[in-house]
Amino acid sequence: MVWLRRLVSGFVDLVYPSSCFHCGELLGGKRLVCDDCFYGAGRISDGYCGVCGEDFEGVFSENPVCPNCRGLDFSFDFAKSALKNTAENREMVISYKYGKRQYLVRVLAKFCSEVLYGDERFSGLPDPVMVPVPLHWRRELRRGFNQADLLSREISRQTGIPALRLLRRRYYTVTQTRLTRGERLRNLRGVFRVRGDLGGYRSIIIIDDVFTTGSTSEECARILRDNFPKVENIVVVTVLRG
Ligand SMILES: [Zn+2]
Ligand SMILES: [Zn+2]
Repeated sequence: MVWLRRLVSGFVDLVYPSSCFHCGELLGGKRLVCDDCFYGAGRISDGYCGVCGEDFEGVFSENPVCPNCRGLDFSFDFAKSALKNTAENREMVISYKYGKRQYLVRVLAKFCSEVLYGDERFSGLPDPVMVPVPLHWRRELRRGFNQADLLSREISRQTGIPALRLLRRRYYTVTQTRLTRGERLRNLRGVFRVRGDLGGYRSIIIIDDVFTTGSTSEECARILRDNFPKVENIVVVTVLRG
């Protein structure tokens, strides 16, 4: 499969569209969206839950925690998504994931890199490594790539933080979109396994495209904590808050 992945990522590098993904403005150079669309993308910047990253409009306090997270105990320390769940942002992620527009990884990774650089909760993590959420091999084969893996490799290229495929998925689970958080968690229990060793890394940054109820991140974090009890921090970064 390594040759196939190399072929795919090699191919991705060659493709640059001539106009902005969102507004169609003609682009010069190696850009995927125009400056207006890039800087205008709805980011989650202030007023968000310190645990799950949910953005609140106009609520400001020292350490805000949203009603969903109150009383819940997570295996990760906190999660942060780069982008708000707007129609434009959703369209970008969906086109990347399902629409064969893998080149969008470069701009999606940029939004995540901004979080890793700009949020001091991340920039202060000791010896960090990124771990992408795995797909089942059958789904990866059908899609041609794992969106979280490609994303983590691109963020790694942009930030220098290493990425490690430390998890694998044992079962082919049905789509989770219609399930509640509790149902999702039950459905995912035991679905991931660790493969390989963490080495000397002390902090793990779980990488995924979308954070919705947090059940996938939670199950990944739980299995990582079980297997690497000495790890100091487990945090989550996703492109979009679903
Ligand atoms: Zn544009
Ligand atoms: Zn929350």
